[in-house]
Amino acid sequence: MRGTVWVLVFALAPIITAAVALVAWRRRRDNPAARALALVLVGVSVWCLAVGLVLAPVPPAVRAAGFPAIFLAVGATVVGFLALSRVLADPGWRPRRWLVALVAVEPVLLAVCSSLPATTDLVFGRTDLTAPAGAVQMIGGPLFAAHSAYSYAFIALGLLRLARTALRGPQVVRRQAAVLLASALPPTAGNLVLTVGMQGSGVVDLTPLFFIVTGLVAGWAILRLGLLAVVPVARDQVVETMTDGVLVTDAVGRVIDLNPAARALLTALRPGAGATLLGRPLRELTGPDLLDAVLPDGPGADGTYSTGRAVVEAAPGRWLDVQSVPVASAGRRIGRVTVVRDVTEAQLREADLRRLAQQLAEQVATIDRLRATLAEEAVRDPLTGLHNRRHLDRALLHDLARSVDEGLPVAVVLVDVDRFKSVNDRFGHGTGDAVLCAVAAELRAGTRTGDTVARAGGEEFVLVLPGADEAEALARAETVRARVGALRHPVPDGVLAVTLSAGVAVARHGGRGAADLLARADRALYRAKSGGRDRVVVAGDAGADVRDVLSTA
Ligand code: GH3
Ligand code: MG
Ligand code: MG
Repeated sequence: MRGTVWVLVFALAPIITAAVALVAWRRRRDNPAARALALVLVGVSVWCLAVGLVLAPVPPAVRAAGFPAIFLAVGATVVGFLALSRVLADPGWRPRRWLVALVAVEPVLLAVCSSLPATTDLVFGRTDLTAPAGAVQMIGGPLFAAHSAYSYAFIALGLLRLARTALRGPQVVRRQAAVLLASALPPTAGNLVLTVGMQGSGVVDLTPLFFIVTGLVAGWAILRLGLLAVVPVARDQVVETMTDGVLVTDAVGRVIDLNPAARALLTALRPGAGATLLGRPLRELTGPDLLDAVLPDGPGADGTYSTGRAVVEAAPGRWLDVQSVPVASAGRRIGRVTVVRDVTEAQLREADLRRLAQQLAEQVATIDRLRATLAEEAVRDPLTGLHNRRHLDRALLHDLARSVDEGLPVAVVLVDVDRFKSVNDRFGHGTGDAVLCAVAAELRAGTRTGDTVARAGGEEFVLVLPGADEAEALARAETVRARVGALRHPVPDGVLAVTLSAGVAVARHGGRGAADLLARADRALYRAKSGGRDRVVVAGDAGADVRDVLSTA
């Protein structure tokens, strides 16, 4: 009776696993783990059916057909389990053809050897296959022992990989790995207990039933949670291959996930940080400044940080564009995602551009200064620093034009040093130059705004006095004459005194133009010279020179 119950259990249980296998197989295109899951579930289903057949109350020859099926099914189950653990850790993984062929060798070999009369003893050893149903006691031969070791090796590898993924894998798949690990432990432990305890007779191998639990839990984790379907693939393809560093931190700021770009950045920033970055506070890895610059205001009133972005010099000469966003789940802040981009090159280019722009601005300023200096030099006399003839002409035209508009007089005073040639002749050109500079200084003293003092050439100077009439101009000329006459210039034998003569002319309402005004002043000067020098002569009214006013020393 008990035997019949087990046969029923082993016959019916696979219906569930086969159904889940079918669902998994349909999802194989959008779920990287679906094929491996389907293989495990099909293996478990066949394994159950085969164990059911071995236990069935049918002739021993029929029951014996269950054994090759068991070897094939166990092979499929353990290989599928190892593949499942691999895909979970690396969703992009696909087995090569030669690998599939290689792992098929052992189960097929066992199935064949167990069927052939010549090799059946190598597999079954002292097992009595003719024992009554439910009392077959497996005391296998060397091939069976090898098969057990082979299958355990696959299971052990799968468990190890799941454990590693659960502890150190990408954060998003750790939970699934832990769930699968937990679900795979019962059949493994159960099988171990049964194998060790299978010394008495009639012990039923419950391992495939335990594996049904594994298959169903895996089906739930993979198909119902749907996490493997989307997250690891998206993460693998998007986050892992991003050139921007992506860091996930938990609620207290510890790094719980990071992509290769972020790992490279952090390692470059802190070469001494070591290989283990996961689990360490981000603040410790980047230095406090980085996050403080991104989130300068600290936590808000509700204790949470807001979104922040900044370009930060994380290490000397290393610029990072850092963007940090809080992540919340069900209204609770569970951490942050921080995206880091190395913008050092762009920053350097920008700095170069700024430097170039500054250099350009400095050069433009220098050119402007030079141009102003040149423009100034073009209207200055290099010896005395007074304005030159070119500026005089322009200033006089301007003043006469204003005199037309405003009706004000414009006076010019033409000054010529007396017998200057003899100064040069007696004391040399250098003394002559010094005298010219002294005369220039006296002319410049007492100028009002708007006056022009120019060296017209040689030892001739011109004062243009806008608004001055004859009397005022005469007074100015007399002052200069007196002051120049009082000067004493040192010469080798003592001191030298020079005198000057001046001609004054005044135009009203523009007169007859600049040339005429200067000509009248020149004629007045000529009269001062011919009158004995060291004097000022004021030209009479424009045109006639009817009334020359003579000023004598
Ligand atoms: P007068 O009283 O008639 O004006 O006699 P003068 O000797 O001053 O007249 P003249 O025009 O014959 O002489 C002017 C001299 O001024 C001639 C020239 O050598 C000198 N001279 C012209 N420019 C300069 C200069 O820049 N420096 C010096 N040292 N001498 C100059
Ligand atoms: Mg002269
Ligand atoms: Mg002279």
